[in-house]
Amino acid sequence: MKQIAVIGSGTMGNGIAHVFAQYGYTVNLIDISEDALKKAITTIGKNLERQVSKQLITEETRSKALSNITTQTDLKTGVGKADLIVEAATENEDLKLKIFSDLDAFSKPEAILASNTSSISITKIAAATKRPDKVIGMHFMNPVPVMKLVEVIRGYNTSDEVTAAIMNLSRLLEKVPVEVNDYPGFVANRILMPMINEAIYSLHEGVAGVQEIDTVMKLGMAHPMGPLQLADFIGLDVCLSILNVLYNGFGNTKYAPCPLLVNMVQAGHKGVKTGSGFYQYTAGSKELVVAERFR
Ligand code: NAD
Repeated sequence: MKQIAVIGSGTMGNGIAHVFAQYGYTVNLIDISEDALKKAITTIGKNLERQVSKQLITEETRSKALSNITTQTDLKTGVGKADLIVEAATENEDLKLKIFSDLDAFSKPEAILASNTSSISITKIAAATKRPDKVIGMHFMNPVPVMKLVEVIRGYNTSDEVTAAIMNLSRLLEKVPVEVNDYPGFVANRILMPMINEAIYSLHEGVAGVQEIDTVMKLGMAHPMGPLQLADFIGLDVCLSILNVLYNGFGNTKYAPCPLLVNMVQAGHKGVKTGSGFYQYTAGSKELVVAERFR
């Protein structure tokens, strides 16, 4: 695999394009928004410069990586040469089903179609194509250039060959791939989201305050970030939607989202991206200011 197309150039798409380009792959980064593509190239440029300043990569690797990336807004003409397409568009099931049906129509028949989805069924996405054996989950973690894990998700029909190819490719990117089967939340979010939900319930029921809950988990369990702060970083709306996937997928009330989480999302307090969640974030900075009513 030499030619990669990445669909969606937001938080994850730009990181995925960055990593493939850094390791010598030719990347066509595709987004419906010109603006998003411009922002992605600026972000990739800054992140590569940071890697140079930390002596993680050379100046030559930085400039080669940038020259390996092209951008495009038209998916139809943008994926024709790709050996692998990694979809990292907005987390919306109908959107992903449409994108995969288009990818199936416009890409080479032998191309592998991967999705970076956090929670949508790979088996369902694969069913939107005529090549379900070549559809797989390639779940990178944020920030992609830094985080080592790739959760490789086998759909019901994903072939052994395609799984082995994506496991090997992940290792070539110096990532650590872990193979998992396609059930709601896969492994990462099936374990992480109930923990975050339980932290929110502990707050909701008055067991402890925000900082107390986060401190217990940081110092007591050696987590680098407390669950409430992590929820703010992920986005409370994203946490809610993944919990709903678990709740609906398993039909088990143990995954029911805490009413406080639902309220906060409905009120527009979605974490870092809106400036307030369990903590408040001053404009342009990630400094934490704990919201008064959650102390
Ligand atoms: P984002 O909102 O930052 O970016 C999504 C991008 O997709 C936007 O630039 C948007 O313009 C583009 N897009 C929408 N429709 C498109 C289309 N039809 N064709 C091409 N581009 C289109 O989202 P994100 O946080 O980067 O998430 C992308 C995917 O990665 C989601 O499936 C999400 O669940 C998954 N994911 C996110 C994280 C995270 O921490 N943010 C971590 C792991 C996985």
